[in-house]
Amino acid sequence: MARVHNWQLGREMSYWYPESRPNKQFAAVFDTNKCIACQTCTLACKTTWTSGLGQEYMLWNNVETKPYGFYPLAWDLKLLEMLDGQKWSEQEYEGQKLHRYEGQTIFESAPAGERVLGWRPEDVDYAYPNVGEDDCAGQVDGGASYSLQHMAQHMAWFYYLARICNHCTYPACLASCPRGSIYKRPEDGIVLVDQGRCRGYQECVKGCPYKKVFYNAMTGTSEKCIACFPKIEQGIQPQCFVNCIGKIRLAGWISTPDKARPDNPIDYLVHVRKVALPLFPQLGLEPNVYYIPPIHVPLSFTKQMFGPGVADAVKTYRNAPNDPDLQGLLALFGSSEAMMPRWRRQGDWVSGFTEDGKEAVRVPIKEPVHVRQPYDRLYQITRTNCP
Ligand code: SF4
Ligand code: SF4
Repeated sequence: MARVHNWQLGREMSYWYPESRPNKQFAAVFDTNKCIACQTCTLACKTTWTSGLGQEYMLWNNVETKPYGFYPLAWDLKLLEMLDGQKWSEQEYEGQKLHRYEGQTIFESAPAGERVLGWRPEDVDYAYPNVGEDDCAGQVDGGASYSLQHMAQHMAWFYYLARICNHCTYPACLASCPRGSIYKRPEDGIVLVDQGRCRGYQECVKGCPYKKVFYNAMTGTSEKCIACFPKIEQGIQPQCFVNCIGKIRLAGWISTPDKARPDNPIDYLVHVRKVALPLFPQLGLEPNVYYIPPIHVPLSFTKQMFGPGVADAVKTYRNAPNDPDLQGLLALFGSSEAMMPRWRRQGDWVSGFTEDGKEAVRVPIKEPVHVRQPYDRLYQITRTNCP
């Protein structure tokens, strides 16, 4: 085992290979508050990459309702139960909160003779991708479907969690593979399975805590999200991003915290404003899909899912209407198919720029609202939206 630095943990940790960061790291931010669980992203991916034989149960992109939805079943609960003592400590340094993970990662708690603490789902665990959909936590009386904390004794809540492979900095799938068939591309950090080398041992399926590698029984190999790399190479965001109805997604490149640039949209949201957080950082993979946490969910739940920065992230996000830069950047989500590694706000407008510095899109921070009068004088008719 090598010693590597994991900035999400605030400390060094053990990993199977030495630290070797790519020249650029693919990353994304998902705003959970905007997702409507329409599953357009799921279908966009399915029809592009996994419509073949042996891929029937594969959902490289899935959207599950938390707290009761999972794909595969209980993917997160099982591992959290296996991983004891997940504690974070907090220190103040020059006015900043520094968090450090004091528990053990899945690499540090691997059983003797194994590289990762993991488990392999049964076939039946993949049978119900919509399990728990729209189920809420808390008691719902008398047909009420939703209540706020200050309005009732109990709180009913759920939220949608869209998931793809995190193209982790320290991938457990890669560490688990005894054939060395999984690799991380140095040019963009995308994690791929070499189909020629893979022999289908499924150690990666067992090792990935997010369960984002799938075994294809027809080909006898493992397959996973490829971050639509043929599109990324052309400067275009992946299928599940550009088809997202809720405009919850933004793809880009992330730097390490010491090299963060405020004019890089992902850096700005993750490092500068700290409003977007990793999924289960305590597992130790340094995942590269970041989530703006849901603002209506008890912090005790979201803290175990997105780490100790969740209370500050929710506060910052709630204040977005008074924060033109943050509000502006959020308006850039879903505004263009282009990868936009740079952004700038000017007054009430925000622009995204491509790799070569060209303006890809310019959008207003607030969408103009046009109210159509019911009576149209030009055509002398009355239009109503509903009877
Ligand atoms: Fe590998 Fe899983 Fe990380 Fe994707 S999410 S890189 S499949 S460990
Ligand atoms: Fe959510 Fe977007 Fe997927 Fe619809 S397309 S389920 S809004 S992530």
